[in-house]
Amino acid sequence: MIHDSRIQPLRSGPPAKGKFVLLWVQASARTRDNHALEYAVRQANELGLPLVAVFGLTPDYPEANARHFQYLLEGLRDLRANLTARGIPLSIRLGKPPEIALEAAREGAALVVTDVGYLNIQRAWRDWLKAQLEVPFVQVESEAVIPIHTVSGKLEYAARTIRPKVHRLWQDYLVPLEEHELRAQTGDWEAGLDVGDPVGLVKTLPVDHGVSPGTETGGEDAALERVEEFISIDLARYDTRRNDPNVEGSSRLSAYLHYGHLSPLTVALVAREHGGPGADALIEELIVRRELSFNLCTFNPLYDQYDGLPGWARKTLEEHAGDRRESLYTRQEFDAAQTHDAYWNAAQRQMVQTGRMHNYMRMYWGKKIVEWTPDPRAAYAEMLWLNNRYEQDGRDPNSYAGLGWVLGLHDRPWARRPVFGMVRYMNAGGLKRKFDADAYAARWA
Ligand SMILES: Cc1cc2nc3c(=O)[nH]c(=O)nc-3n(C[C@H](O)[C@H](O)[C@H](O)COP(=O)(O)OP(=O)(O)OC[C@H]3O[C@@H](n4cnc5c(N)ncnc54)[C@H](O)[C@@H]3O)c2cc1C
Repeated sequence: MIHDSRIQPLRSGPPAKGKFVLLWVQASARTRDNHALEYAVRQANELGLPLVAVFGLTPDYPEANARHFQYLLEGLRDLRANLTARGIPLSIRLGKPPEIALEAAREGAALVVTDVGYLNIQRAWRDWLKAQLEVPFVQVESEAVIPIHTVSGKLEYAARTIRPKVHRLWQDYLVPLEEHELRAQTGDWEAGLDVGDPVGLVKTLPVDHGVSPGTETGGEDAALERVEEFISIDLARYDTRRNDPNVEGSSRLSAYLHYGHLSPLTVALVAREHGGPGADALIEELIVRRELSFNLCTFNPLYDQYDGLPGWARKTLEEHAGDRRESLYTRQEFDAAQTHDAYWNAAQRQMVQTGRMHNYMRMYWGKKIVEWTPDPRAAYAEMLWLNNRYEQDGRDPNSYAGLGWVLGLHDRPWARRPVFGMVRYMNAGGLKRKFDADAYAARWA
């Protein structure tokens, strides 16, 4: 089922006399549980037209490097194979995504359908295309379990304010998405880039090669395999083990979700079927926390800037900006994991080497950067640079919510202390109480 609230016409009107319906793929690079794709299939069937898809690959996407591009290309390889199996050819073209979509639409689209990403750049691309197109243009929300404006019409303060709104609605939206067969097909659609060898292709792209690919493989097929493995092995103990970096008991699905290789609906449906405290805890992260991040990016245009943090947090941090710091490190020292703190260095190395820092260490890692930089604005800049450069799931709404949380976003004031003011503080004692932090440090030494 596709709820009407997922579907928003950006340019209305009757379909043009065209040769095909065009799916402009951006945020949802998969075939399973992709509402934009299923909506496009239904439109094509109604019009008796084939459906074709296009993806614009831009080597100058902000902050993206070879690590990110290889993962993206692995996703496009699977997407092409899985769309082809459904009779939908995918054209992958180098260039600015909305310009590529316009070029493809001008080749004979009756109607253009796209998915929805929540970052400013993705919104700007859709706005640009909307102003250029002469045919109807529809966006269909597929990345959120519940469409963002349906959950809330305003910027939410914290998980506690959005949670009841999500809980009121989520059962209505946790419904399987039926796949319809495409009736008319075409072979007449330029393939563009060959993505059969993502590892080879990424080497030829004019992107930042300073960060090597991470240890996880991207793409819809790998994502679905990981879901199966997680559900059968880790879900039952997720609530008790997810915060122990030594056992890796969390889902490790965030990068698949970030690139749209996996739908949160797919995961939530199987988790609900299994039930239990593990499933409840997962749904809290996957729906409540994740949709809180989307809410942030939708209603706060400064979501990726220090100035976008809540006023109380900036005020208290700035009151303590002159407090003495025990240690100060440069970007190069952070980058090379050269601090005096073995736990922090281990977390940094885990991120640099693999592309994934454990969830629990991300909090500690961020809080220490606040302590070891001259002021909160500098702390924000260093965290953002490191997180988005090395995390495979970086540059995501969750990145901005997570980094903001370190500086008080979505949290409340705590007891005042040096450097942090009333923003929550964290120390190594907290790590040691939760898990064997020395074993973690030794593992990543
Ligand atoms: C400083 C800091 C930086 C972070 N940077 C990122 C980032 O760049 N990209 C990113 O995706 N997440 C980020 N997070 C949030 C969280 O740490 C990761 O989503 C999580 O570690 C991913 O691992 P997992 O898939 O095994 O999570 P699981 O625990 O298995 O959770 C399942 C899914 O729920 C969502 N989720 C989990 N925790 C959170 C959270 N706190 N907020 C929002 N959604 C959540 C993710 O989509 C995740 O894949 C950051 C958190 C902090 C404190």
